[in-house]
Amino acid sequence: MQKFDVIVIGGGVIGASVAFHLALFGAKSVLLLERDTVGAGTTSQSSGILRTHYSVRENVELAKRSWDVFNNFAEYVQDREASCGIVRCGYVITADAGDKLEPLRAALKQQESHQVRLEYLTPAQASELLPIATFSESALIGYEPDAGFADATMTAMGFAKSARHRGVKVQEGVSVTNLLWAGSRVIGVATTGGEFLCDTVVSTQNIWTRELSGWTARVMPLTPERHAVMALDCEAAPYTFQMPVFKDLSSEGMLYYRSYGGKQMLVSEGTAGETLAEADASQGDVPLDYVVEVGTQVAQRFPAYEAAGLASSWTGVYDVTPDWNPVLGRIPGVAGLVVGYGFSGHGFKLSPTVGRILAQEVLGLHPDVALAPYSIERFQSGALLVGKYGSGAVS
Ligand SMILES: Cc1cc2nc3c(=O)[nH]c(=O)nc-3n(C[C@H](O)[C@H](O)[C@H](O)COP(=O)(O)OP(=O)(O)OC[C@H]3O[C@@H](n4cnc5c(N)ncnc54)[C@H](O)[C@@H]3O)c2cc1C
Repeated sequence: MQKFDVIVIGGGVIGASVAFHLALFGAKSVLLLERDTVGAGTTSQSSGILRTHYSVRENVELAKRSWDVFNNFAEYVQDREASCGIVRCGYVITADAGDKLEPLRAALKQQESHQVRLEYLTPAQASELLPIATFSESALIGYEPDAGFADATMTAMGFAKSARHRGVKVQEGVSVTNLLWAGSRVIGVATTGGEFLCDTVVSTQNIWTRELSGWTARVMPLTPERHAVMALDCEAAPYTFQMPVFKDLSSEGMLYYRSYGGKQMLVSEGTAGETLAEADASQGDVPLDYVVEVGTQVAQRFPAYEAAGLASSWTGVYDVTPDWNPVLGRIPGVAGLVVGYGFSGHGFKLSPTVGRILAQEVLGLHPDVALAPYSIERFQSGALLVGKYGSGAVS
């Protein structure tokens, strides 16, 4: 039976990043197994927003280090052909007078303590950056110049390709069907392409972590949640690439916005979505009354969008944990297993650093950012990573 140092299950942006970093840090033989194709899972559904704004302190550090990677992606993966498709347009976040105002003030202050470049804008200054929006009711506006969006599938491909250059074996079209055990230690995987041995298995299976929970008989809290995304077309007020990503904490759906293709507006909700009974990332319906409901909120902030048309809509599925933050690290009582799941709709912007610190953990190196706060044990101990804005992917 073939033996590897490490086997990674799942070739989304997280698994591809783990595989790349394992090779970067000198792992001799790594196998990445993906049942579909690299990046074809929920990574392909990502809105791709990159920001360091978080109300959970630990996430600011992960996002900040990750931004530096996105900002110099080809250099970081040492492949001149690689691109993550970055658009550096900045990020504006606002709250009107109301229950989100003080949490926003506290989160912005916290960002400053992490030496994030941050500006406080007047409504007039915000209107210069995003002239298609109205800020007349805004009580507080934060602006992060070092932010924007990128393409999650291209990023996953970039990590996977560079991992291959460094000797990682990437196998697509292979499903892991079970783990192999020696007592309570994981020693390999059973797959549709045969059995493989290894010293450590890393599971980055996103919503399909439920399979891992079955194989290990361990509770791994996780709810698949479907979210709708829309692209709106408004001839009179195009959302250009120069306009920043925008988060409206005061809208009912805590909506987020960005340019889509340099002309349309991509918009989606930052609140809870539709709970799914099964791990299923296939497309769901986006009902017309939902489009109208979100469209009404959009028009309150972007008056010209009263007359916007729906260019397209799609759905994507989040792997939501009880505190809307990921589980990273080892599973107590299961030697030889490391997990990275539960990104709850905000994992793309963390993916470079998450891959790096999981690889460091596997190889017995000191992780650049502590994994302990993200331990699965927090769901028992109560040391949850609860965001100041309530449930939702802004965290
Ligand atoms: C609609 C939407 C919008 C989002 N917007 C943003 C955003 O703006 N910014 C941001 O930072 N994040 C965002 N996210 C979140 C981000 O995209 C995800 O956190 C990230 O892409 C998850 O990557 P992953 O590798 O964990 O999961 P996936 O890409 O789902 O990868 C998991 C992979 O594991 C494979 N797999 C599972 N089980 C097995 C098995 N048994 N054998 C073999 N392969 C297996 C699957 O096929 C899949 O490819 C969004 C997500 C969605 C759905």
